[in-house]
Amino acid sequence: MPLEVVSILRELVRRPSINPMSRDAPQGTLFEQPVTDYLNEVFQTLNVTPYRQQVADHRVNLVARLDGSPAPSEGGKILVLEAHQDTVPVTGMTIDPFAAEVRAGRLWGRGACDVKSGIACILTVLSRLAAERPDPRPTVLVACTVDEEFGVTGARAFPDMWMDPEQLDLPRVPDAIIVSEPTELDVVVAHKGSLRWKCHTHGRAAHSSRPSEGENAIYRMSRVINATERYAATMIHQLASHPLVGVPTLSLGRIQGGMSVNVVPDQCTIEIDRRIVPGEDWQVAWEHFKRFLNETVPDVAVTHEEPYTTTPGMSDRINGDLAKRLSKVIQQHGHPGHCVGVTYGTNAWAYTSREAPTVVFGPGSIQQAHTVDEWIEIDQLEQATDILYAFARSFVHD
Ligand SMILES: [Zn+2]
Repeated sequence: MPLEVVSILRELVRRPSINPMSRDAPQGTLFEQPVTDYLNEVFQTLNVTPYRQQVADHRVNLVARLDGSPAPSEGGKILVLEAHQDTVPVTGMTIDPFAAEVRAGRLWGRGACDVKSGIACILTVLSRLAAERPDPRPTVLVACTVDEEFGVTGARAFPDMWMDPEQLDLPRVPDAIIVSEPTELDVVVAHKGSLRWKCHTHGRAAHSSRPSEGENAIYRMSRVINATERYAATMIHQLASHPLVGVPTLSLGRIQGGMSVNVVPDQCTIEIDRRIVPGEDWQVAWEHFKRFLNETVPDVAVTHEEPYTTTPGMSDRINGDLAKRLSKVIQQHGHPGHCVGVTYGTNAWAYTSREAPTVVFGPGSIQQAHTVDEWIEIDQLEQATDILYAFARSFVHD
């Protein structure tokens, strides 16, 4: 029996799979485990072979495989439908994050949009194909990866499964990968990457009644901040440009410093988010900014920690044919199916960098991702499922 997409999404939203958004999660954190266990059950009822790739404790990339006809080695296509299992935290949400309430044509809850809706779509597509076994059909891999929202460790590891004889044992990299993210039924063919790191200024602590005996790290940082704002407003836009995603950007997102109002602060820290356009090298981008600071505020010593996020952008270099094919199917379902570039990141770069043609597609809007009252429109959820199913049925020849 094929699955029903709304009930699957409700089951997924009811199971928390919160990404702690840090390298040091508290003991007992379950990460994606409740969702992974559920996916395992679903794959068993569908009678498809699951493959597991342990990425960390409680963090497993789970991949279901439905063999195609003909086999990939005899000219059959290989199609990967991918979605991440994790969600952002639920702090500050104004609705019950796990109630999966259906109201006003929408399904509400954490992950309803980003991106348990995508998991529900691809599971439903898999269930239809498993029930009908059309001939010809592509070999379909439904890949549910971990840790998209923070370290991207799941997507970095998944390509290692492709040709591993102990794992998926594919004869070549996949012919097409569709990464699920809320794109409002458009096809994302390029996106930016990001570079994130911390910088510190240092000083000397002293009693605040005698500030001249100390050296104020916050005053020093304020000069760094002014220079950073200037850099972000002017220079950075001239460094690179991509016709679909535009120019690089830089944003200062956090600041921390001082221990008490009556102590001259000896330390101040900021965190910077630099968006990389496809083709830009993060190391070059990083060095450029550091050099700018050195030249602009030469008398302030700034220490830069090694970046904790370095994800390149996704370029549209090898996905043109795939994008055209998917866009055609979307148009046949009455939607524009525009091929677009976006400024946010996804897992897709990790697959294009292994030379697998990859695009991003899914129901819902990125405006609804990570929000305090996250929801997905049920009509779009069903449309996306039909589109992906039709695409899979049609993906049998060049
Ligand atoms: Zn997402």
